[in-house]
Amino acid sequence: MGKKVLVLGEVRDGSLRNVSFEAIAAAKTIADDGEVVGVLIGDAVKSLGQELIQYGADRVVVVEDEKLKQYTSDGFSQAVMAVIDQEKPEGIVFGHTALGKDLSPKIASKLGVGLISDAVALEVVDGEVVFTRPIYSGKAFEKKVVKNGLIFATVRPNNITPLEKDESRSGDIISLSVEIKDLRTIIKEVVRKTAEGVDLSEAKVIVAGGRGVKSSEGFEPLKELAKVLGGAVGASRGACDADYCDYSLQIGQTGKVVTPDLYIACGISGAIQHLAGMSNSKVIVAINKDPEANIFKVADYGIVGDLFEVVPMLTEEFKKLKVASS
Ligand code: FAD
Repeated sequence: MGKKVLVLGEVRDGSLRNVSFEAIAAAKTIADDGEVVGVLIGDAVKSLGQELIQYGADRVVVVEDEKLKQYTSDGFSQAVMAVIDQEKPEGIVFGHTALGKDLSPKIASKLGVGLISDAVALEVVDGEVVFTRPIYSGKAFEKKVVKNGLIFATVRPNNITPLEKDESRSGDIISLSVEIKDLRTIIKEVVRKTAEGVDLSEAKVIVAGGRGVKSSEGFEPLKELAKVLGGAVGASRGACDADYCDYSLQIGQTGKVVTPDLYIACGISGAIQHLAGMSNSKVIVAINKDPEANIFKVADYGIVGDLFEVVPMLTEEFKKLKVASS
């Protein structure tokens, strides 16, 4: 029998993040023939409801309040709990983003239910929804099912294919009035570390540098390559620790977990803690002087060579391809 599944639409800088559409696709699988209800929380976010519907939500519930302008777990949990109270869903899906990671355990504990976090795939087997999630820093995968009660999951960005956008779809977008109690934490100011370029956690292409890049100037050729490919620049912790770049670029166990279509690792040895953050990338290219470097074990394509020669050559070739195809 079909289920009712709530999906949190995640808004950043006035737009919905892609992971919201991926979460809708996951919710459709859980809902079976049931209903997918989008949830929008913030200040002046109602206009985004239509896009959630175009990507597959059947209707949208909106909670707007000035106190919800910036994300706080305190404020958003009050809003989400009010929607859950009203809708009584049988499933909930969030993106496994910084927001989703912060909010989902709080909601799960308030509801007294389990949480399947960081799912990279889901399928229906014999009527049960089976989630796949990485364990041991991505070295293995486990499959999980919820035997009884509400199915609550977060989905890793860039893993679940969203449904095709259908501009002809329509559905109700209803406001829910919630009295948000005084917040214990207030965001005074958001200081962006990486204001320019593509968001690392949603980038389709990432060019990442390690200690082999040798200096902050050494990142310049990587930035050029990323620009030509419309991608983002990332880094190993080695490069961050050496002060070649900001920690906001760090990928790995204690940094961001990314799954782009293409990951180009430049001067990165491939320590297990780094692999934990990128080994699920669809295609991995490694550029390293050392043919024995561990990164080659996970790479689809390996280039043994000096990154300062290889990266500019790649940039030139991609530029030519772009010109030829335009
Ligand atoms: P190195 O291991 O020093 O490798 C540099 C590579 O560059 C070498 O393979 C070398 O052959 C190559 N090279 C040098 N010059 C050139 C050149 N000119 N051209 C091409 N190749 C060149 N690390 C992370 O990345 N992310 C994490 O989240 C993370 N979390 C951690 C958590 C814990 C608890 C611990 C203990 C460690 C963590 N680390 C993490 C650190 C990790 O163990 C490694 O130390 C780190 O990833 C190494 O960074 P690197 O590959 O850039 O440097």
